[in-house]
Amino acid sequence: MLMVARNSRQEAIKSIAATQPVKSAIDPTKTSIAELYGENVFNMALMRKVLPKNVFASLQKTIEKGEKLDSANADAIASAMKEWAVAKGATHYTHQFQPMTGSTAEKHDAFISYTSDGTAINEFSGKVLIQGEPDASSFPSGGLRATFEARGYTAWDPTSPAFILESVNGKTLVIPTAFCGWKGEALDEKTPLLRSIDALSKQAVRLLKILGKEVNRVHSTVGPEQEYFLIDRNFYLQRPDLIAAGRTLFGAKPPKGQEMEDHYFGSIRPRILAFMNEVEIECYKLGIPLKTRHNEVAPAQFEVAPIFETSQVASDHNMVVMEMFRQVANKHGLQALFHEKPFAGVNGSGKHNNWSMATDKGENLLEPGHTPEENAQFLVFLAVVVRAVNEWGKLLRVGIAHSGNDHRLGANEAPPAIISVYLGEKLQDVVDAIVKGAKGKSRVGGTLDIGVSTLPTLPRDASDRNRTSPFAFTGNKFEFRAVGGSQAIGRPNTFLNTAVAESLDYVATELEKKLKGGKDLHAAINAVVKETLAANLKVIWNGDNYTKEWHDEAAKRGLPNLKNTVDAVQVLKDKDVVKLLGEYAVLSEEEVSSRLTIMLENYIKTINIEALTTSNIARQQILPAALKYQHQLAETINATKAASKGASTKAVESVLKEVAELTESLQEAVEELDKERAEDSSNGDHTKHAKHMRDGVVAAMGKVREAADALELLVDDQLWPLPKYREMLFVY
Ligand code: ADP
Ligand code: MG
Repeated sequence: MLMVARNSRQEAIKSIAATQPVKSAIDPTKTSIAELYGENVFNMALMRKVLPKNVFASLQKTIEKGEKLDSANADAIASAMKEWAVAKGATHYTHQFQPMTGSTAEKHDAFISYTSDGTAINEFSGKVLIQGEPDASSFPSGGLRATFEARGYTAWDPTSPAFILESVNGKTLVIPTAFCGWKGEALDEKTPLLRSIDALSKQAVRLLKILGKEVNRVHSTVGPEQEYFLIDRNFYLQRPDLIAAGRTLFGAKPPKGQEMEDHYFGSIRPRILAFMNEVEIECYKLGIPLKTRHNEVAPAQFEVAPIFETSQVASDHNMVVMEMFRQVANKHGLQALFHEKPFAGVNGSGKHNNWSMATDKGENLLEPGHTPEENAQFLVFLAVVVRAVNEWGKLLRVGIAHSGNDHRLGANEAPPAIISVYLGEKLQDVVDAIVKGAKGKSRVGGTLDIGVSTLPTLPRDASDRNRTSPFAFTGNKFEFRAVGGSQAIGRPNTFLNTAVAESLDYVATELEKKLKGGKDLHAAINAVVKETLAANLKVIWNGDNYTKEWHDEAAKRGLPNLKNTVDAVQVLKDKDVVKLLGEYAVLSEEEVSSRLTIMLENYIKTINIEALTTSNIARQQILPAALKYQHQLAETINATKAASKGASTKAVESVLKEVAELTESLQEAVEELDKERAEDSSNGDHTKHAKHMRDGVVAAMGKVREAADALELLVDDQLWPLPKYREMLFVY
């Protein structure tokens, strides 16, 4: 009997077939989730208990009103934090920060201090809590800092609680921080986010005051819905492209993709559910309020959504969620993929950034409300946001620009790169009634007197929702749907908050002008809302954003359509953008320019890695497989001819010819790719280099893939080295 050895793909399938759902350490059915929730967080409730009254009161002010932390209290807080962490078994602490790499960074220090008499004590002072001093030289600074002034510092962000991270052999106290250079220049994603929240708060408090409402602070609130893929780790480890680039650079379209639409909201497989249950518990312990889970549109794609929180906490939590999902998935023999487009031909992953503003008393400023006064406030804030997106759509576009998202934006699964606002039919009627007044034909019926008329109830159910809009109103919040699945949400929210801060400022100033001009508040609001909406109608589109009709219409309206990262980031050179970010103290001119450099560098490096990986796989795995198959076919022809003079070898010859031709195309394409990749005549001009990567290298990679994917459909399955789409997406 002929024994055929299993290839590594078949080995993987065999082991997956035997895989059982993994039991988690904590059985959620026997545990009180309410008790477990936040058990590893040094949160407000705990601080109230363990801190001296005056210290707690001062810290509370910092957290709720954005006031500076009184450093005199730091020692007391540090000592309480240490006692708690050590009692829970923590041996180390770390300042966690978000350098401009898209991920988090941490360096751990032991609590233990060694004394001269050979003993050791646990030590952790206020100074150490408040400020850390990592060597900043190896993090991207985009020219903000020369390497000889490598020092940077991390500063505790008291608005985001410290927590304990558990690992198999120990626990670490994690302190969320901002990361700056010594002159205070922001080297991270968090500092600008915190600054943008301050800017937004200041202007929103001012506007509310004009409207007759006194509040201390306004927060932006965010609930990021996270899409991701899970594939078996046995497959993942055999895909150098997934490992190096986070996405597959090869893979023929499987016979079955997502066309049956049988995965979305489908029943969750036991192995996946076991993973979800465990990762949720881990997140609950960290006080991350995960709420929903379901199967997404593409096979092997899923979504998780938390309850919204203030944007800096939501942003920190989203980073932890991604990391936790990666770790727990590995424990379950799975690999979590957050890339915007891990698999060609099926939907990619985004992060729907649900966003609103709320006062420190918890009032949602985008809640339409039930009384005419509440409605008036809502309409003012609505006009503010519509104007912000119209004025600063290009900045919102920069916030979501990176090479991964280029695969998504504009593809028929994600909103186009044109930033527009969706209001829905009912709210559009209201806007029409306000703008057109009695002259217009609106379903609301003539003029709408803001502050006197009541609004119709606005639907919040999914049926009225436009899934194609990048920025959609969904009842009492906006959903910024164009954010990428893998990206940190700090930057998109920084830009969104800043745009809105400017718009709040504008509307507040307009109201002040009208009031000074003798109008009463009621008339002033009516006039400003009407004028503001009327001036910004061009950004509103309630139709299908995927259609050619919209692309043509948007062009007519003069809305920017920045189709890819390289084009989008150029916006950071625009004078008005630099001025905006500077005026609201979010990013200085140097900081803006550093972001531009880093975004371009990041793009160049990402494409470079993808190109190298493409070349390696093509040369070292695919070509050898194709040649082996060619050899087999040639031998078959010879053997057949030797065995039987009259036998036809037409079929084999035809296959051989096809394989040989494709192999030749593959080799040519790889040579071309390597040539394109090595070519750099940009002389250090990042934009020029990035354009070459976009126009030359990406296209050359496409050619390699084309030949390789055609070979995949031809070469003996037994010889094919890479796990196939039909396996990765369906066998788990
Ligand atoms: P869906 O949009 O899928 O219908 P929901 O409307 O319940 O689901 O909410 C989706 C996300 O929006 C959740 O994370 C939710 O917490 C968040 N969200 C709800 N209200 C707000 C708000 N005021 N600000 C920010 N996010 C919010
Ligand atoms: Mg939603």
